[in-house]
Amino acid sequence: MKILIISPHTDDGELGAGGTICKFIRERNEVFHAVFSCCEESLPKTCLPNTLEKEFLGAQSAYGIKKENIFIYRNKVRHFPEVRREILESLVALKKRIRPNLVLSPSLNDFHQDHNVLALECIRCFKSEASIISYELPWNNLTFQKTCFVKLTKDDIEKKWNALMSYASQFELNRPYFSKEYIFALARMKGIECGSEYAESFEVIRWMIPTNGYGKSESPDA
Ligand SMILES: [Zn+2]
Repeated sequence: MKILIISPHTDDGELGAGGTICKFIRERNEVFHAVFSCCEESLPKTCLPNTLEKEFLGAQSAYGIKKENIFIYRNKVRHFPEVRREILESLVALKKRIRPNLVLSPSLNDFHQDHNVLALECIRCFKSEASIISYELPWNNLTFQKTCFVKLTKDDIEKKWNALMSYASQFELNRPYFSKEYIFALARMKGIECGSEYAESFEVIRWMIPTNGYGKSESPDA
């Protein structure tokens, strides 16, 4: 199965779905990750402008995502609404190149303007071709319908935490969600909800039931 992770900013997909990314890779799916801003303006003053890009690449390497499967777009943080059309064009180009079976996007109920624009444009781009689920970022979500669970092992969550440790700049900013206690507690809570040791939950935006197996594209022009 070809799976595309869509992140508005460098750490979003990993915070919301890092354990699931580990499981997808462990189960030999092909994982792609596209990030739409490296947030130069949000860095601590002591950091170089490319700090988050380097940290993002370090995290992808920790997950084992191939370099050729990583896509970095350089939009200005908090300005996605102004470049909405360009973002859709980037997504359409990704769709043509990858033909993903499953897309992981931010939630439609995410009130950060960049996340919200990307969630809507993901639906416009992928709605006829791929299943779409959104990942949870509790500090940004007004509501979240847990309609899909991915059961995970302790090793998946350990790997998620190890990948998140690449983001030294975010630890410097004391982001409360860059905490081992939070990452493990949330995954444990989701695990209890679905009868697993650990888990991550998602909101189903669109689910396409495959008729010829997930390994093959159903798109006529693929
Ligand atoms: Zn973000």
